[in-house]
Amino acid sequence: MYGIGIAKGLLVTLRNLFRTPSTVQYPEERVEQHSRFRGQEFSWYEERCTGCASCAKYCPLGIIEIVTDPSQQAIQDGDKYAIEKFDIDIGRCMYCGLCVEACPYDALFMGSGFERARYTRDELFIPMEELKNATKRPSTWFRPQLEGKGYDPQSGQPLGWKDVGRHEAPDYEAMQRRWADR
Ligand code: SF4
Ligand code: SF4
Repeated sequence: MYGIGIAKGLLVTLRNLFRTPSTVQYPEERVEQHSRFRGQEFSWYEERCTGCASCAKYCPLGIIEIVTDPSQQAIQDGDKYAIEKFDIDIGRCMYCGLCVEACPYDALFMGSGFERARYTRDELFIPMEELKNATKRPSTWFRPQLEGKGYDPQSGQPLGWKDVGRHEAPDYEAMQRRWADR
């Protein structure tokens, strides 16, 4: 019958008029993210990083660039390389997380933020200085130790390098002192 289609359409409109919306008015409101959410910026802990470059080798897109210098004093005791460059070009990142999975020292974490939008891809490049100085609220993705502690990056609480590892952090200074005493 003529007009039935219109009535059905209006019924759908009417039904949805009183439903709770599933979207929010961004940026006034933000959708709450899961603690395992893989955000844009990375959390990199220089103090934990040995410069092994596993993350760079595992990245399928080759967008992590690391330059190290074996100038530290106690390499034979497990001391780490000096890291001269650690840059990530997230303009090409697909957030697969393989770099984080590959890091054996819990030095690299996916980030939890999602508001690093820029006008050009070049501006998405994250140089080492920025990674070093960033406030670190790491995602708990692939880091069960953080989930075990009940850490939620969305709480806004940053985590320091001593709090993010599976094992106690090595005391590099004590190591170097021991080596100097020999
Ligand atoms: S998340 Fe994936 S694409 Fe992005 S830097 Fe890590 S390994 Fe590379
Ligand atoms: S972040 Fe991890 S995998 Fe990458 S160089 Fe540092 S210790 Fe190695």
